[in-house]
Amino acid sequence: MAISRASVPEPYAARLASVRDTLTRRKLDAYFVHDRMDQYWLTGFSGEDGSVVLTADHVVLLTDGRFDEAATREAPYARKVLRKVRGPEANAKEIKRLRVRRIGFNPDQVSVREFNELGKLIRPARLLATDDPIRPLRMQKTPGEIDRIRRAIHVAEEAFKAVRKWIRPGVTEREVAAQIEFEMRRRGAQGPSFPTIVAFGPNSSLPHYDSGDRRWMDSEPVLIDWGAQVDWYCSDLTRVFWTGAVLPEYRTITDVVRQAHDAAIEAVRPGAKAASVDAVARRLITKAGYGKEFNHALGHGFGLRVHEGPRVGRKSKDVLRPGMVVTIEPGIYIPGVGGARIEDDVLVTETGHEVLSSLPTTV
Ligand code: ZN
Ligand code: ZN
Repeated sequence: MAISRASVPEPYAARLASVRDTLTRRKLDAYFVHDRMDQYWLTGFSGEDGSVVLTADHVVLLTDGRFDEAATREAPYARKVLRKVRGPEANAKEIKRLRVRRIGFNPDQVSVREFNELGKLIRPARLLATDDPIRPLRMQKTPGEIDRIRRAIHVAEEAFKAVRKWIRPGVTEREVAAQIEFEMRRRGAQGPSFPTIVAFGPNSSLPHYDSGDRRWMDSEPVLIDWGAQVDWYCSDLTRVFWTGAVLPEYRTITDVVRQAHDAAIEAVRPGAKAASVDAVARRLITKAGYGKEFNHALGHGFGLRVHEGPRVGRKSKDVLRPGMVVTIEPGIYIPGVGGARIEDDVLVTETGHEVLSSLPTTV
């Protein structure tokens, strides 16, 4: 039974049509969606166990009984198939029913085991690893998505302001992380968009530090990297601050990072290569003598996931387009002294950029 496309609401109708266009161009009969956030973006179904088979005429949603009601509410236009057992059999049965021959999938999302098992069951149809047709579409956000990102940023910023007032010498990193996550939830976050990083003093030189039991002394800098997830969309921010007398070199690196952050944001505009925006910050930091100590990419796209396209680093091949939302987060990390990173969330507009976050860089 073909499902009338008129019954699919926006934004899903437009998204399904875009992915279908790509399938036609690539001579694929179907696309197998395995990633939860791709599935949500494409169909509106948010259940954590599901996959989608998309053809020119059908949207088949495969999930299990726990998500029966959610699937009906969130994606009523899709053909729902409830799996009785885990494994590839239900997927294979649907693929056979659809009589498709060439099925594209993203090789980053399907395990070798799933590929082999499903591949055997669907013969003579074939699974074909393909460039993800959804990634480039997800990179450019719609106004509705940008609104949700703004809300996620607002919740994170308000929570930060509350914690900034509350923090006292003697609190532990873990307590600060818990407090900021609590303040985000009470303001409407589903949760943090990633585990909050709170690092005091020398711990801040580890870019992916796990908050621990160190107690804050006000002669130490505090680095907080946090974000909220609101209505499935993420925010991602970093600030450093101190109240007492920190090491002079720490002040220096914070100043350099702030300059690199400001200069890189100015370079964000449609048509700019993401790699050249990275280069703006990296040149400045290298000139100040800290090139080796800036040991990660300048930033990343985010949206339904806290890390998604485009890449904003030295090796990125992505070009910035209106609607992309990226972080700009240069950092300098010196073992024993600490690390400084300042991270903001920036929208690429038709004419340049808009910094979506509004916390001052000096807090
Ligand atoms: Zn971050
Ligand atoms: Zn980030």
